[in-house]
Parts: sequence; structure tokens; C-alpha cells
Amino acid sequence: MSKIIIEPKDRVFVLTGAGISAESGLPTFRAEDGLWAGHSVEEVCTADAWVRNPEKVWLFYAERRAAGFKAKPNPAHTALAELEARLGDRFFLCTQNVDTLHEAAGSKRLVHMHGQLDRARCENECGRPPVVDNTVYTTLAEVPRCACGGRLRPHIVFFGEMPLEVEFIEEKIAASTVMVVIGTSGSVYPAAGFVNWAQRQGARTVYIGPERPLNASSFTEIVLGKAGQVLPGLFEVQ
Ligand code: NAD
Repeated sequence: MSKIIIEPKDRVFVLTGAGISAESGLPTFRAEDGLWAGHSVEEVCTADAWVRNPEKVWLFYAERRAAGFKAKPNPAHTALAELEARLGDRFFLCTQNVDTLHEAAGSKRLVHMHGQLDRARCENECGRPPVVDNTVYTTLAEVPRCACGGRLRPHIVFFGEMPLEVEFIEEKIAASTVMVVIGTSGSVYPAAGFVNWAQRQGARTVYIGPERPLNASSFTEIVLGKAGQVLPGLFEVQ
């Protein structure tokens, strides 16, 4: 397997998806035993679901919390944290994952564009920022209220809602010369289109995962394999 050479002029943008956490025991969305097995997206991950049945939504995310907090980062998360330690501000990580395994591995320059499991925020968008919230709720009655009176909801981007920090992400892509995309099926936009934004400005674009993503034709290089096996030792920083 050839190395990805990072030259002194390079700035690296990494996008990760559910696949990078698969080897930590967190199922991907598309796996047969996947996260959504037994749950339709409409019941647990839309603004309508929240209005109709907030308890069901919280109990679903409480289960995700319980599993997510037990999981440990795998060698792929660690390899990215080590790359960041070498590149400093020339590295940026955008994850679609709501687990916090990148932080657990030591990543610092990152955004969670679809939210994160260990935060909650006011359902009324009253302007107060998300709060740290690790509670595995068992009933809706346990969920605290915001100072404005609204109920706290999971800090998760529901289907149909805008991803977080898209302008900041766009700036980081515009500044990058290498884009590395790991473990995402290329089916959910805008993330699936980031490779096209990078390509338009002449960046090298590499995909890493066990199967070709839906947007495979947009990459200059595809490395087929599991992230935890491929990433350690993949980068050569010059
Ligand atoms: P996905 O489940 O659609 O794709 C996972 C990808 O990981 C697959 O391409 C798979 O080949 C790859 N993979 C599996 N094991 C791997 C490994 N060991 N190493 C590297 N790659 C591996 O997940 P996604 O692309 O992250 O989904 C994008 C976003 O879609 C999510 O953040 C979520 O917000 C949203 N979403 C999707 C669904 C759905 O039904 N597709 C449901 C809910 C949410």
C-alpha cells in the first residue's frame, strides 16, 4: 500500500463517517445490524418525531449514549490524533459522527457537523449554547429544562435540519490541499459533496474504507480496507 505523502506546503482536511467507529464496536447505519435496525428514522430522528414523542427520541439517544460512552477509540482514531499532533494548524477534522471517540483519542481541531451525543440544547433555539449532558435518561420526566423553560433536546442534527458550522467547514476545505475521507458511504449531503468542493480547487482526494462509496468517482485515490488497519503508518509527513 502506497503512503500518503504530506509535504510542507500541504494542509489536510479529514472527513470521517460511521465506518471509522465500526472497529470500536459502534455499528454503521447501513450495516444489517445497523443503528437504525428496528427504528425508523422518522420515529427517532426528525423534528416531527421530537414534537410527537420526545420521550421516544430521548430513549433512543440514551441508548446511543450508553453504547457510545462504553466504546474506546481504535487505531484509526489514534492515527488521526497523531497526524494532528505533527501538523498542528495544517490539520482539520470534520466528523459526521456523534460519538466522541476522536476527542478520546486526542483530536482537538475538529467539528461534529451532525452534533454530539454528550451535549443537549434548548428545543426552543433560545440562543443559549449547548450544555454538557451525559445522562442516560430512562424517562422524559428526568430531562431538565432550559432557563427559558424549553425542554432540553439531544444536540443532534435531525434529518431535515441544517448541519452545524458549514461555513467554517467550507473555509477549512477552501484552505486544504489534501482531503482524506474515511468510512462514509457518500450518501448524505452536504458531506458527500465535500470531495467535489476540494477537487474543484485541485486538492488530492483520498477515500479509505472497505468498499467503494457512492461518490467514488470523485476521488483521485481509493484505499480499500478497514480504517483501523489502513490508517496507522499510512501518512508520511515530510
Ligand atoms: P453509513 O452507515 O452510511 O456508511 C458507513 C460506511 O463505513 C460504509 O461506506 C462502510 O463501507 C464503511 N465502513 C464499514 N466498516 C468500516 C471500517 N472498519 N473502516 C472504514 N470504513 C468502514 O454512515 P455515514 O456515511 O457516516 O452516514 C452519514 C450520515 O448519515 C451520518 O452521520 C448520519 O447523520 C446520517 N444518517 C444516515 C442514516 C442512513 O440510514 N443512512 C441514518 C441515520 C443517519
